[in-house]
Amino acid sequence: MDTTNQNLTADVLVIGFGKGGKTTAHALADAGRRVVLVERDENMYGGTCPNVGCVPTKMLLHYSTSRRLEDEAQEFFAQSIAGVRELTKLFRAGNFEGLNGKPSAMVVTGTARFIDSNTVQVGEGDDALTVTAPTILINTGSEPVVPDIPGVRDSRFRVSSTDLIQQDRLPKRLAIVGGGYLGLEFAGIYRSFGADVTVLESADRLLLREDDDVAGAVSDLLTGDGVSLITGASVTVVSDGTDAATVTYVKDGASVELEVDAFLVAVGRRAAIDELDLTAAGVETTERGAIRVDDELRTSQSHIFALGDVNGGPQFTYVSLDDSRIVLDQLLGDGKRRVSDRVAVPRTLFLNPPLATVGITETEARKQGLNIKVARENVADIIAMPRAYTVEETRGLMKFIVDSSTDQILGAALLSIDAQEIINLVAIAMRNGITATELRDSIYTHPSSTEALNEVFDHIVA
Ligand SMILES: Cc1cc2nc3c(=O)[nH]c(=O)nc-3n(C[C@H](O)[C@H](O)[C@H](O)COP(=O)(O)OP(=O)(O)OC[C@H]3O[C@@H](n4cnc5c(N)ncnc54)[C@H](O)[C@@H]3O)c2cc1C
Repeated sequence: MDTTNQNLTADVLVIGFGKGGKTTAHALADAGRRVVLVERDENMYGGTCPNVGCVPTKMLLHYSTSRRLEDEAQEFFAQSIAGVRELTKLFRAGNFEGLNGKPSAMVVTGTARFIDSNTVQVGEGDDALTVTAPTILINTGSEPVVPDIPGVRDSRFRVSSTDLIQQDRLPKRLAIVGGGYLGLEFAGIYRSFGADVTVLESADRLLLREDDDVAGAVSDLLTGDGVSLITGASVTVVSDGTDAATVTYVKDGASVELEVDAFLVAVGRRAAIDELDLTAAGVETTERGAIRVDDELRTSQSHIFALGDVNGGPQFTYVSLDDSRIVLDQLLGDGKRRVSDRVAVPRTLFLNPPLATVGITETEARKQGLNIKVARENVADIIAMPRAYTVEETRGLMKFIVDSSTDQILGAALLSIDAQEIINLVAIAMRNGITATELRDSIYTHPSSTEALNEVFDHIVA
């Protein structure tokens, strides 16, 4: 790194310590490039996923499901949060040292703001410094959308997902506005910890992207666990009392009041670009406020790339990671890898048991007029999968959409123990042309959840 007074020059500047940025930074530093990575928050080394996203929520899910009847809810919750803090601290330190410890990499802590298309200023006032580089990667992630509903923004009882996983106190009554992935994950977790959870979803049913039967099974799972799911509910106003907030929503034309100790707004996340001053760099955004990128993840300035949530793609850590493969191919490889090459990108909604999906649904396939067969079985009925019984989790279903003429798998929805693992196998089959019959007739270990494939494809109907 070249340093003059408060000016750093590097080969590559990475803004934000997200998955895509840090992975690219490691590889470039290993290849001898001088890399500066700027992260605004010392509690976010490693980005959202290990600090306030995937890792803490999945650890809390694990803790919440291991709670015993005799565990006092509040105390158990506080211990769980302490466990999460310990792990995230460890991951954070590993992330910082892992990168900053490399001879040609440096982590700078401060908020980056563009001055021109090759330079950012980090911080303000006397401590400010500038970083200049011919290649820049923006990896600043996303932040929650807070809707303009009266009383919501200023409520003392509004919590973010980050607040929820960092505070020791378990809210006794928690409302979650929005029944998407994030909202439902929090609903499941906080219900298992012992909170009274109400999900308020404005659509007529949950998970509009999924088939009716799959979404219905998820609803049954959550309500069976004691979550109160209210669909077709539009929140109209929130008013703060001394010790609680009243969330008012309209359902079927009637206004209903719900008193809660906290409410989480989970109606989506938008690209985190406000602090970047993208106009100073000439970087364009989309109508939805994400950074506009092409198929190689180059922005409107071809030497500036955008990776991860900030480019408006699917908001998953592994997508940000795949973005790094594309960018690295541009910077170190033969430049052939493209976003549009992606096939069968799976998703998991971490409930207990999880819902993992890939490809298209039955509804989509029928809408497209495809000639399909559907294989579907409830987990409790799958004789070839004793694992569900051995771990006492027999809820859910497995469903596959198969092309009738080619036997190729077009989509899957697995609400099942271990679904987050099985779905990766199904996605690999889809990417590599492995047929439903081949999956049915493969050798799998026993007792495993994958064994279900030996049986479910026998229940296939046109
Ligand atoms: C509660 C929750 C649970 C989730 N669970 C999962 C899951 O189970 N699986 C999954 O795949 N995904 C999950 N996600 C989504 C996943 O966390 C994100 O898709 C992923 O972390 C996005 O990473 P990224 O590379 O875009 O950047 P991020 O990891 O978000 O990192 C961006 C970084 O940029 C920094 N930054 C922002 N602006 C500036 C600036 N101007 N200057 C300097 N630094 C800046 C931020 O502080 C942050 O550290 C979850 C998200 C949340 C919120």
